[in-house]
Amino acid sequence: VSPYEELDPLVRRLNEQQVELKARMDRIMDADVMRQEFTANVTHELKTPIASISGASELLRDGFVRLEDVRDFASRIYDDAQRLSSLVSDILMLSKMDESERVGDQALFGEPQDVDLLSVAQDVVDRLQDRACKANVTLRVQGANVRVSGYPRLLDELVKNLCDNAIRYNRTGGSVHVFVLPVNGHPTLRVTDTGVGIAPEDQPKVFERFYRVDKSRSRASGGTGLGLAIVKHAAALHGATINLSSELGRGTTITVTFPSEDR
Ligand code: ADP
Repeated sequence: VSPYEELDPLVRRLNEQQVELKARMDRIMDADVMRQEFTANVTHELKTPIASISGASELLRDGFVRLEDVRDFASRIYDDAQRLSSLVSDILMLSKMDESERVGDQALFGEPQDVDLLSVAQDVVDRLQDRACKANVTLRVQGANVRVSGYPRLLDELVKNLCDNAIRYNRTGGSVHVFVLPVNGHPTLRVTDTGVGIAPEDQPKVFERFYRVDKSRSRASGGTGLGLAIVKHAAALHGATINLSSELGRGTTITVTFPSEDR
């Protein structure tokens, strides 16, 4: 046997290992690029309201604001402070979700419990009724008591973000319907709105962090650009799938399907 033939399997194994190593490096680099992009976006999103708060409060402090404009300035400062607060909560929520997926440990969200999805939805709808009323949007919930095994805080966050959006991107006089029902044994949550809709090319992107179709509409109505990213993670942590169907100018329906109850 020639010594080269003996070397053959060794060389092949080395090649395979090299390919595998390269793939692993690529995955690490991709995750790193995503982390860097996220940090850059977070910095930018935080800097904007901070700059606006410092500018407005400086003008107030130095007496450059006419008396009749003081209320307007104060309310701008208040809105920006609220935006900072929502951003910080959403960023913390996402980083906790990332951590939980990374270490494969959902214990960060407590023990999974037997949760009634309909009562979670009813609770959220009650809390958002005021906001819906101000936007002149009817907000209703209906369905049956279906139980899922999950994390109450995350389920609340999931339903809240979907309803928030359904109100935010609606039209005046429009409506939002929340349905909770079993479909083929799967607990299912469906949020339907009569709003602006999402173009087909934007539909796959809206679940990305900080992706917004209309930046000014999102910001003006208190959006952080992180709501659907949180929904995506919350669904994944429950083994649930998300389906989006939407038509521009007509409205959007988002359906979340949970694993079957008798799994
Ligand atoms: P935001 O805080 O901007 O609402 P999200 O992550 O919740 O961030 O949503 C991302 C983008 O997807 C929004 O900026 C908006 O353009 C679009 N979007 C989300 N939900 C809806 C909806 N129900 N109808 C129309 N557009 C929506």
